[in-house]
Amino acid sequence: MNTTINFDGKEIWFITGSQVLYGEKILKQVFENSQIISEEFNQSNLIDVKIICKKPVKSSNEVLKICEDANYSKSCIGIIAWMHTFSPAKMWISGLSILNKPIMHLHTQFNYEIPWEEIDMDFMNLNQSAHGDREFGFIMSRMRIGRKVVVGHWKEKAVLKKIGIWVRVAMGVNEARNLQVARLGDNMREVAVTEGDKVSAQISIGCSVNGFDSSDVTDRMAKFRNKQVEELVAIYENSYLISKKLKKNGEMRSSLFESARIELALRDFLVEGKFNAFTNTFENLGKIKQLPGIAVQRLMSEGYGFGAEGDWKTAALVRILKVMSHGLTGGTSFMEDYTYHFGADKSYVLGSHMLEICPSICVEKPKCEIHPLGIGAKEDPVRLVFDSKPCNAINVSLIDVGNRFRIIVNEVEGVKPLSDLPKLPVARAFWEPKPNLSTAASCWILAGGAHHTAYSQAITTEYIEDFAEILGIELVTIDDKSTIGSFKEKLKLNEVYYHIFNNKL
Ligand code: MN
Repeated sequence: MNTTINFDGKEIWFITGSQVLYGEKILKQVFENSQIISEEFNQSNLIDVKIICKKPVKSSNEVLKICEDANYSKSCIGIIAWMHTFSPAKMWISGLSILNKPIMHLHTQFNYEIPWEEIDMDFMNLNQSAHGDREFGFIMSRMRIGRKVVVGHWKEKAVLKKIGIWVRVAMGVNEARNLQVARLGDNMREVAVTEGDKVSAQISIGCSVNGFDSSDVTDRMAKFRNKQVEELVAIYENSYLISKKLKKNGEMRSSLFESARIELALRDFLVEGKFNAFTNTFENLGKIKQLPGIAVQRLMSEGYGFGAEGDWKTAALVRILKVMSHGLTGGTSFMEDYTYHFGADKSYVLGSHMLEICPSICVEKPKCEIHPLGIGAKEDPVRLVFDSKPCNAINVSLIDVGNRFRIIVNEVEGVKPLSDLPKLPVARAFWEPKPNLSTAASCWILAGGAHHTAYSQAITTEYIEDFAEILGIELVTIDDKSTIGSFKEKLKLNEVYYHIFNNKL
């Protein structure tokens, strides 16, 4: 597990809105109720970041102050706002206009049911979120602030689950804004979709993307002693089923040592530069003797983002999804749609890459093998070979369409391959896209979705929706309800919408 993914020390601020009109007694009750709700959130195993209950805000100055504090706080990664009483929303304008942290609007009320026998005017004054939150919703819409609205009683599992997802997405946004992506070499020559505007990415997503040379890795290789390389090879031997050629006295044993040395140097480069995502390309390997396979696969399983062939957008995306899904069941990997299996009833995709699929998605202990690459004129690379776990997953693509970024999601059902693949020397996943291959691939291609994706078994479309909303990025989803006609309309409407409202690039 990558020690750079850490939810400890991060906070979500729970801010309750009110106003001075109600008097001390009611405001004291508002604060107490907010604390009880925060405590419930902190006790829930569905919410994985600490919730800090702030004193209710009652005036424009108090709102401005708390938004300023949130902006400057290194630990605060987002705000949950709730109007326990009425809170005239003009008082929120100055604060919301400078807030640069993600905001979620929780529309709940303290009581679950109406206390029919006891309800009086005091109760009515205290419990006004049904209209107080509408006033707050208006000003957020009026100011065009992207946010998630979660509706329901604060003890309901469905509500806790939605908050928990948003909180994880806020962690992903925090990562995006601090992420440094290292590109070893440039783009695979002539490939279009892996290109994009890196300055725009830094402005609208937050990640910085900079180029380095393969010598930045190879220059480090000599500094590792043979003992360190042997220790890493021992880890390989304990973790994977080593093929005959790579075993002690095997004919390719030295290649295993070479790949271990590459891993040591690559990790050293990433750690020293504080890079949590990286790319390489087989066309710019320089003195790296084999395309890094097992090294990249193991680094990805530790939490690093990766994109092949210079694909920095997918590298960033893999890293951000790994942060969002930290500690959840299921893995997240760099992926590529490789080849199809057409059938009369169902058609499937075999996803894979030349080497670099993350073992976090695997179903059983990976095999460690060596085979020729057949491309790039380098030595045979060592790689981990395995099948992906058959379970629901999403494929996510981030592309640059010229005046903005677009995210495309396709929900898929991962299934067991229909047969063994004894001669396929790479890790793979096999899935049926929703609603079916024909509609899914049509929509994907119409949207310009890349052949590279981030494939995640751990998170759902809702995470990506929240992420896109916070950053103001276009999102199109392909799921079991998608039709080609409505999808095309959505793409056309989005062209107009983002032409008018896209002010970030
Ligand atoms: Mn590729």
